[in-house]
Amino acid sequence: MLGQMMTAPLLISGLMDHAARYHHDTEIVSVNTGGGEERTTWHAVANGAKRLASALTRRGFAPQTRCATIAWNNRRHLEIYFGVSGGGFVCHTINPRLFAEQLIYIINHAEDGVLFIDRSFLPLVAAIRDKLTTVKLIVLLEAEVGDAAATLPGLIAYDDLLAEGDAGFDWPLLNEQTASSLCYTSGTTANPKGVLFSHRSTVLHSLSCNLADSLGFSARDIVLPVVPMFHVNAWGTPYACAMVGARMVLPGPGLDGASLVDLISRHAVSVALGVPTIWQGLLAAAEAQDSALTSLKKTVVGGSACPPSMIAAFRDQHQVETLHAWGMTEMSPIGSVNQPLAKHAALAPDALDRLRENQGRPPWGVELRIVDDTGAPLPPDGKTQGQLLVRGHFVLDAYFHMSQAETLQDGWFNTGDIATLDENGYLTICDRAKDIIKSGGEWISSVELENIAIAHPQLADAAVIGAPHPKWDERPVLVAVKAEGHDPDPTDILSIFEGKIAKWQIPDTVVFVERLPRNATGKVLKRDLRATFTNILTG
Ligand code: ADP
Repeated sequence: MLGQMMTAPLLISGLMDHAARYHHDTEIVSVNTGGGEERTTWHAVANGAKRLASALTRRGFAPQTRCATIAWNNRRHLEIYFGVSGGGFVCHTINPRLFAEQLIYIINHAEDGVLFIDRSFLPLVAAIRDKLTTVKLIVLLEAEVGDAAATLPGLIAYDDLLAEGDAGFDWPLLNEQTASSLCYTSGTTANPKGVLFSHRSTVLHSLSCNLADSLGFSARDIVLPVVPMFHVNAWGTPYACAMVGARMVLPGPGLDGASLVDLISRHAVSVALGVPTIWQGLLAAAEAQDSALTSLKKTVVGGSACPPSMIAAFRDQHQVETLHAWGMTEMSPIGSVNQPLAKHAALAPDALDRLRENQGRPPWGVELRIVDDTGAPLPPDGKTQGQLLVRGHFVLDAYFHMSQAETLQDGWFNTGDIATLDENGYLTICDRAKDIIKSGGEWISSVELENIAIAHPQLADAAVIGAPHPKWDERPVLVAVKAEGHDPDPTDILSIFEGKIAKWQIPDTVVFVERLPRNATGKVLKRDLRATFTNILTG
């Protein structure tokens, strides 16, 4: 017997309609690419989204046409998220920090028909335009094209495109499994791979994000996604915010610490999300400007391991709670969020602080397990390290244009991370499998060493790599950036590890660099560091 309840497909247009109907006057602040700010509302965003969907349909773009964006976090980009997906097209967000060859590969592989670009990326797109085989229309995210038309012939302005559309457009009633959006992984080792989200996975991910024990946005929040809308859909923030009618502040191109401190204080931001490197800049700027960040209640930090010293700085200097989160493009991306359980209320403050440092536990919708090299499950005892596998309602089934058999392992997705899990599902990421240091048959977590090193007051940045060693196969080497105005002694730097880890895990040496090489999403390029310092221990 079937239940007798109404069913309707879970669609992104439903998120938009909800926000427009019940949070119509809720404000969204957007920093313009050319400078200045504008204010809009969920009602106006829905209006723009419908006009866009209508205009693309009238121009004859077929359902499921991929419409790419190369844009900052701003109001027009937000309208595109809902208008493109809601209209039955696929919103393909592209990271502008990729190399030109990667951009060409991604756009052609996705077969993008439309390209929406911010003014900052005109030169980038003009340089590769000839190689883009499927793009029929390029839209500049401005009111007018102006002199940009000279750089890219055929370019039209977003506002002109919208004027062709109808705000009374009826969203198509799609199958909820229909593709809604597309993101490519940054592909540091091979060609980027596409992750094709569906309306259903996006709505379920939003629900899961909004659980009180997950990111838990509410209509009373003012949410600042510093994480770019081209980095796994700003971790799903636009959809999750529409679902609850949260206010948003979209920061545009200025992601330096000082601009963010200014935005947070002027707009009373309560929740901000971003990768650790962004928060390093923010904390330094807050200190320099003597800003207490008084409105801020929570930061969500993920993308790379959040050092415990950063969690402590937010807590002790600004009374801000850090939610350490872990995930990946293939998971939409939220896989775990660090929130305590009821029983942790009894913990001593220090023990509670330690508990809040790891990557947290999975929200509803995600299952985690660790396995050995043969695929056999390992015990969730908080100690045993293994390959981290995931499955769930918003985890990919197959990469775009690839098969399930090429993507999954016994029905699970292998994350490529090495981790421990405890009995309550708390996850500690030890390393990417390719970055873990194998010393004399034992594993050393580079993440653990980095978390300790970065707390050294004379260091601005730190990464640990395994370097070839004649006796131990590999030994850890600390690659560090000196803090401004400091010239630390290597022995003093290494002494910070004493008493915190076993002696044999302490790096053999430290080398100083001007800055660490990072990929398009802010992760340290350890492969490059290993190549540079491959002979450092062998002479
Ligand atoms: P890319 O940035 O390469 O496009 P993702 O953003 O999907 O790819 O990166 C996912 C990977 O980032 C994870 O598998 C993990 O290794 C790393 N990662 C993400 N969040 C954390 C975290 N909180 N702690 C440690 N590593 C993390």
